[in-house]
Amino acid sequence: MNASRRAVLAGLTGLTAAALAGCGSGGSLASGGQTAADPAPGVSGTGLASPAAPVTSAAATPSAAASSPAAGPALSRDAVVARYGQLTPRTWGFGGPGVVRDLGTRRRVIALTFDACGGPGGSEYDAALIAFLRRREVPATLFLNSRWIDENPATFRQLRREPLFELANHGTRHLPLSVTGRSAYGIGGTRNAGEVYDEVAANQVKLTRLLGTPPRFFRAGTAFSDDVADRIVTAMGDQLVTFSVNGDGGATFTPEQVRVTVAAAPAGSIVLCHMNHPRGGTAAGIAAAVPQLQAAGYRFTRLSDGLA
Ligand SMILES: [Zn+2]
Repeated sequence: MNASRRAVLAGLTGLTAAALAGCGSGGSLASGGQTAADPAPGVSGTGLASPAAPVTSAAATPSAAASSPAAGPALSRDAVVARYGQLTPRTWGFGGPGVVRDLGTRRRVIALTFDACGGPGGSEYDAALIAFLRRREVPATLFLNSRWIDENPATFRQLRREPLFELANHGTRHLPLSVTGRSAYGIGGTRNAGEVYDEVAANQVKLTRLLGTPPRFFRAGTAFSDDVADRIVTAMGDQLVTFSVNGDGGATFTPEQVRVTVAAAPAGSIVLCHMNHPRGGTAAGIAAAVPQLQAAGYRFTRLSDGLA
């Protein structure tokens, strides 16, 4: 079914932006980036800190789409464990089987994607960034972690009403997606097939309830995954998305670094930036890069439109 989309994917192996992956990074790169680094979910995301309250109370009510409540993952947890529980992964990174890394086109179109990673230090909201996108009518795909949604119920309710933005799944505890507990940037990954399922499914169920329809795209915390996890996500009915351009270095870049990096994005890029670090350089960098790209004839698209 997703054959055509899958074809687009894995193809391009060039690890353009590999080193400084998306969210969760920060630690190892640019000097002063620490503030932007995601917290280690192992500590913060185990559910202890997850303040379930806001959304369950505020946003659960909404009427958004009362109709399709039961639209959970296409596969049960037991089925995932039975089918994938014994497999040994062979790859680790941003480009495993079925993973969408770019739009697969040479047309001058770019998908801007913004992660909201959640957790302590990761649950802020970059209102200036979103205001800029609105003002310029720049469509974007927003990958929301379950914990960020819990912390920003009012903002969430506003964003979900805007067709300019497509909302997608950025995980439940914001973990690298592994069947062996492999870590990225010091963040321990999920430890087995069942935990991969949990990381995807819980936030998928939440988003489905809040949006009325299941989110189509999933991006793991840190964007790292192994190939068995990739296959699980696909089997669950989601498309796993990473990136081809690391636009803000895990929200550690200065505005100028963001501008230079994003303005240089080639046609068909999926650009990864963040919307949860208002004191970082992302908003100013995007505000400078977008007009440059538009002047050069580029347009912007949500993932679902760009990957049609
Ligand atoms: Zn993230």
